[in-house]
Amino acid sequence: MKFDFKEEDLIIKPYKTPGPVYVRKQKGLFQKIRRYTGVIFVLLFALLPWVNYQGKQAILLDIGKQQFHFFGITLFPQDFTLLAWFLIIAAFLLFFITTWLGRIWCGYLCPQTVWAFTYIWIEEKIEGTRNQRMRLDKASMTAGKVAKKLLKHAIWLALSFLTATTFITYFVPATSLYAGLLELEWSALVTFWVIFFTLCTYGNAGWIREKMCIYFCPYSRFQSAMFDQDTLLVAYDKKRGENRGARRRKDNHKQLGLGDCVDCNLCVEVCPAGIDIRNGLQYECINCGACIDACDQTMDKFGYAKGLISYTSENALARKKSPVLRPKILGYGSLSICFVILMGITMHSRVPVEVSVLRDRNVLFRTNYLDEVENSYQLKLINKSQQPQVYQLNVLGVDNVKSSLTEPIEVAAGEMLSVPVTLTVARENIKYKVTNLQFVIQAENNADIHLLKETRFYSD
Ligand code: SF4
Ligand code: SF4
Repeated sequence: MKFDFKEEDLIIKPYKTPGPVYVRKQKGLFQKIRRYTGVIFVLLFALLPWVNYQGKQAILLDIGKQQFHFFGITLFPQDFTLLAWFLIIAAFLLFFITTWLGRIWCGYLCPQTVWAFTYIWIEEKIEGTRNQRMRLDKASMTAGKVAKKLLKHAIWLALSFLTATTFITYFVPATSLYAGLLELEWSALVTFWVIFFTLCTYGNAGWIREKMCIYFCPYSRFQSAMFDQDTLLVAYDKKRGENRGARRRKDNHKQLGLGDCVDCNLCVEVCPAGIDIRNGLQYECINCGACIDACDQTMDKFGYAKGLISYTSENALARKKSPVLRPKILGYGSLSICFVILMGITMHSRVPVEVSVLRDRNVLFRTNYLDEVENSYQLKLINKSQQPQVYQLNVLGVDNVKSSLTEPIEVAAGEMLSVPVTLTVARENIKYKVTNLQFVIQAENNADIHLLKETRFYSD
């Protein structure tokens, strides 16, 4: 028996490997919106680390010290519940937005999209239009081609380096990071992360681009689970567009048996994902709207109504009602609001001091020369406020208890202090072998900052 296939047909390829996507420059309403949101996003990203609040960098995630500063609020690992609330709210907001507006995040705000479009713009400025870039890549290596490629990659690398250092300024104070760069005094750790993020940015935005969204991004895989028939998405109106085909502007295309699609292929050429939206809904589509702008431009030229490709929904395409307010959206929206309120309450009730009480592990109790009983403890105080605090320590639960700590305790802002404390009680005041007692920690200048910690006092 003779089989009719080639050797490469036997190789199983987990991923399709299309060639490079040459994106055509496109102007239009959605590209303008995307450009403006991208600029705002990049400015926020670059400038936020330079904003100071109460004399400190407003946003600083100091992993070494395990302190996370957000505009005057310092969070510690003990505030993990707040981080959990934050992640829950972010997840539900994502569900809410995705169900309502589809992959609007991918198309307009995702850093991968913003950076990829920026890198494409640089490429276009140096190597020319889509057709010129395609010709340049096919041409043999000349001095001019090498110079253009070198310049492009040098600018891409410089931008990647700037992106990496800006990202690191969220973890290392911006002033010390750049001062260290000028004096060539970066630690090995900082140098490693800057190189790592530089290469990641260069690779993702310069080389991988759409493959990152298609093969690596988990969101592109699970977002369809949140979609319903009324979710906003970019779609081609097949009923109106088919049969597609070329024609002259003055032709009456209905008489020729043609739909509104003139088969100009512009929607494919402007697509950063390299897909043809006319083939139906595809998970590769990032909802950037470039094909809408391209198609509207063609529709204008031919005097047809705009919107052959548009932001629409499956129900709207099937000429059915497509309501915005529906149970899924209302559910996600109200849950997001509830979680924001709960997080607000948690933040409001948060006391900016943390105390842990550790008992002396070696001896349960001691007896002194006056036959009084002594218990020793180690207090760990964390001042979670932005100002230095002075704390008073009191003990409740045993009569006439004497503390070795007679002076108030001063702790600098954001610092942790270990304080040894010995409590002494006369035998006539001790009723049980184990007595429950409480350490009361009170800030001297702020009645709202106080904390009560339970511990035990042992005797024989
Ligand atoms: S199909 Fe259209 S909206 Fe989707 S990624 Fe391509 S250009 Fe953007
Ligand atoms: S841009 Fe519009 S008219 Fe041109 S091929 Fe795409 S769908 Fe058809």
